[in-house]
Amino acid sequence: MFEAVLTVFALPFGPLNNHHPTNMTESPGQQIIDACLRMQSEGINQGSAGNISVRSNDGFLITPSGMAYERMAPEDMVQMSLEGKPTGKWKPSSEWRMHLDIYRSRPEAGAVVHAHSTFCTALACLRRDIPPFHYMVAVAGGRDIRCSDYALFGTQELSDAMLAALEGRRACLLGTHGMICFHDNLERALKLAIEVEALAKQYWHACQAGEPVLLSDEEMAPVIERFGGYGQAHQSE
Ligand SMILES: [Zn+2]
Repeated sequence: MFEAVLTVFALPFGPLNNHHPTNMTESPGQQIIDACLRMQSEGINQGSAGNISVRSNDGFLITPSGMAYERMAPEDMVQMSLEGKPTGKWKPSSEWRMHLDIYRSRPEAGAVVHAHSTFCTALACLRRDIPPFHYMVAVAGGRDIRCSDYALFGTQELSDAMLAALEGRRACLLGTHGMICFHDNLERALKLAIEVEALAKQYWHACQAGEPVLLSDEEMAPVIERFGGYGQAHQSE
C-alpha cells in the first residue's frame, strides 16, 4: 500500500503527460488557457462552466465571463485586486467572488480551479460529503472532502458556505453546484481537481454496490501527513 501512496504522492511534482501540458515558462494568461483546455480533455468540465485563476500582481488573474476556452487569448484574462476590482476589457467569471475569498483567506493558495464535473456535482446534488472510503481522499488535506450548503452562484453567501467547507482542506463540493479546489500552483490545482473527480466517481460506484468500508482516523492520519495535509500533526507544529 505504501508503495502506491508514494507513487501517487510523487505525481503532483512530476511532468504532465497529456495533450495540453502546462508550460511554466508561458505567461500566466496562457497557462490558464492551457489548463482550461486540459479540463475539457480530461472531461471534468461542462461547457464553459468551469473557471480558473492564478494569484498575480497583488491580486489574481481569472478567466473572463462567458467566453469559449478555444477562443480565449492571454490578454482576455481579467486581473482582479484583492478588493474585488477588475481591470481588463472583459467581465470576470461570474464566480470570481469564490476565487477572491480563497486568495484572501488562504495565503497558501496560488491557483484555484472550479468545475461542474459530473460525479462531484452528482454527489453535491445529494449534499453528500466524500468520506474516507479510500486513502486518496487525504489529497484534499484531511479525512474527508466536505459538501457545502447551497447558495445562489456568484453570491457572498455561496462564498461563505464554501470557505466553511474548505476549513482545513484544499478542495470541497459545492451544494447542488459542483466542486472547487486550490493548490500552491496551477498544475497542482488542476491535478487535484482531476483527482477529486476520480474519487467522487469511485465513491459513487462503490455506493451502487453496497456500503463502502470507511477508514478510521488512525488509518487516515499517516496518509494525511504524507500528503502534506492539514491534519493535527501539522497544525501543532
Ligand atoms: Zn459554478
